[in-house]
Parts: sequence; C-alpha cells; structure tokens
Amino acid sequence: MVEPIATAQLQINLSAIVENWKTLNTISGCAGAAVKANAYGLGAEQVSKALYEAGCRDFFVANWDEANQLKHIIPQNMISVLNGIDDDNIEFAKAHEFKPVLNTPYQIILWRENGGLCDLMLDSGINRLGIAKDQMDASLFDGLNIDIAMSHLASADEDSANNETQRTTYDNMRANIGSRRNSLANSAGIMLGTDYHYDLSRPGIALYGGIVCDALNAYIKPVVSIKARVLQTRMIRKGQGIGYNSTYICPEDMMVATASLGYADGYMRNFSSSGLESKGFASFEDRKLPIIGRISMDLITLDTRESVNIVEGDWIEIDFNLSEISKLSSISQYELLTNLGNRHVRQYDC
Ligand SMILES: *Cc1c(COP(=O)(O)O)cnc(C)c1O
Repeated sequence: MVEPIATAQLQINLSAIVENWKTLNTISGCAGAAVKANAYGLGAEQVSKALYEAGCRDFFVANWDEANQLKHIIPQNMISVLNGIDDDNIEFAKAHEFKPVLNTPYQIILWRENGGLCDLMLDSGINRLGIAKDQMDASLFDGLNIDIAMSHLASADEDSANNETQRTTYDNMRANIGSRRNSLANSAGIMLGTDYHYDLSRPGIALYGGIVCDALNAYIKPVVSIKARVLQTRMIRKGQGIGYNSTYICPEDMMVATASLGYADGYMRNFSSSGLESKGFASFEDRKLPIIGRISMDLITLDTRESVNIVEGDWIEIDFNLSEISKLSSISQYELLTNLGNRHVRQYDC
C-alpha cells in the first residue's frame, strides 16, 4: 500500500538520549529519568524503552494516564507518579504496582491502608506540591513503605542561595522518615555538585538536549532535529509584503521559499521576524536561511538570497539548538520541546 510521506519531519536521536542519560548517571552516581509529558514531547514509550535497556531503573511521570501508557514497556514498580493520588485514582493505583508520589497528608491517609510501596514529596521551598515543613509530625509517616523521599529545587538553573537553603531544609525534613532512598536534583541540580546527588537524580530536560545551565554545555548532546520540505520558491518584488499582515517588506527583488512547517507543528509564532530582523533560521547546504514574516499554522517563509541552488522539493533543516532558540524566541526550552510532536511524524534513529 502506498502511504503518505510527511513533509515535516521530527527526528529524534534515541542514542543521544541514552548517551545523555549515561553521562548524567555517571556524574550524579545514579540517575532516573523524567518521562512525563510524553517524554517532553519526544515519545514516552520509545524513550523509556531505550533508557530501560540502557540500565535506567527509575521513571517519573506526572499522572496515571502516563503511567498506564508505560505499564507494558517497563516494570510498574519503577514508575513514580509525581502528581500523587486522589479519590478517583486510588482504585486504579491499588490495582497496579506504580508508586504514587504522596504529596499531602490526605494522600498519605488514602495510601496508608493499602500499604504498597510509595514515594514521598517533601516541599523544601518551591511552595508548589509536597508535604510542607509545618505539616511534618512524627506520626505522619507511620505505616508507610517509602522508597524515595524526594524534594524539588526551585532555582537549580540559577546561582542562587535558595539552593543551599532548600538542601538544608530537605536534610532536616527527611532525617527520620525511614525512606529507602533520597533524591533532590533535576538536570540543573546535578551540576550543583555531589552534595545534591544523594541516592538518585531525576534529570528530564538535559536527557532531551536541553542546556539549562552553562555547566551542562560540555556534556549534553543535541537530540532533536527538524526537517521541512520546500513547497514553493518564487521571486518576490521589492516593496512586497510577506505572509500575514505583511510584517516583512522585501528590501529588494528577492528569492523566497515557502516550507512545510508551522505553529501547529510546535514551531511557535515567536519565531516570526520582527520587521527585517529574523528570529528563526534554517539551513540548506550549510547556507543560513533567515525566516521572514509571520509563522503561519502550516507554513514558514524563508529568505533564500544566500542559497541560489534551492528548489521546490528540497529539504531544509530548521535550527533547533534549544538554548539559542530559547533566547531568540523567549520561549523556555521546556516549552519548545513539549510543543513539538502533536502533528509531527516522529522518526527515531533506532
Ligand atoms: C519535571 C521534574 C523533574 C525533571 O526536571 P528537569 O528540569 O527537566 O531536569 C525532576 N523532578 C520533578 C519532581 C519534576 O517535576
């Protein structure tokens, strides 16, 4: 049977994800993997399978749907559900071996009767989710079988005194809980040093090529590349506007290409040019192609004056260096990744 061929391709280098995990596993002593939000948009099943085969034994998802999706891919008792349990999901949770990350005294009560293995979130200062300092009391954790007592850093990607404050608070909170393992660091937290490593780190973004602090630069390999097909090339005359609202006015007669990629693929409107100044770029045969005008739902337009060979049907490569394009677009590296892949056909290297 003849199948359609995608005109925009999201290519995911699973070997690079595995290499990034191995690097972080070595640096931190022992690394798990945050595979929530469909492994940051890149495909939770494929990523989890590859990391499991590489030796990863702790996987973090946000909710029960995400855990359910992985139940035949990796052993259930290696999956932690960060958002915890509630009245609606307690029956599902009891019927499986996933570990809820208990976040509140109510969740502890819900889980205690069941007695299965669980994890615990201690809020050491992010003031978001987790047992707070003033909720701690000696009997709160009685009868729980706690694997990981974790906490989460608010400012690991900054050189902030908050990191040390949170670490000390975490040490005090976890002291008499009787957990099997302790865990504090996310990707950026790993680079804060061995004091932050404990028994397990929980990297997410860095596995997928994100460079969220300078220290990661030396270690992390890029994972994602995006290719788009040129659908049309045309000469546009001086003074003509390009795309919606004509935000780019051609300064001279110039060749322009239109390619198959848009904000519905996760290539956000922030990459639209600001007047003549481009914020998004692609390349063709090592020549840089600035994106001009607005990003549309399904299309981008490119200035091809530097690349005279380009013709209809060629493939261009979109510049997706996460830390650089994050600065250019003012979109976080996390959002740039998780926005990808709703329409894209994902292609894996193995
Ligand atoms: C998402 C998440 C992580 C991973 O964070 P990164 O910054 O992507 O490395 C770790 N721990 C918790 C609790 C999380 O929610």
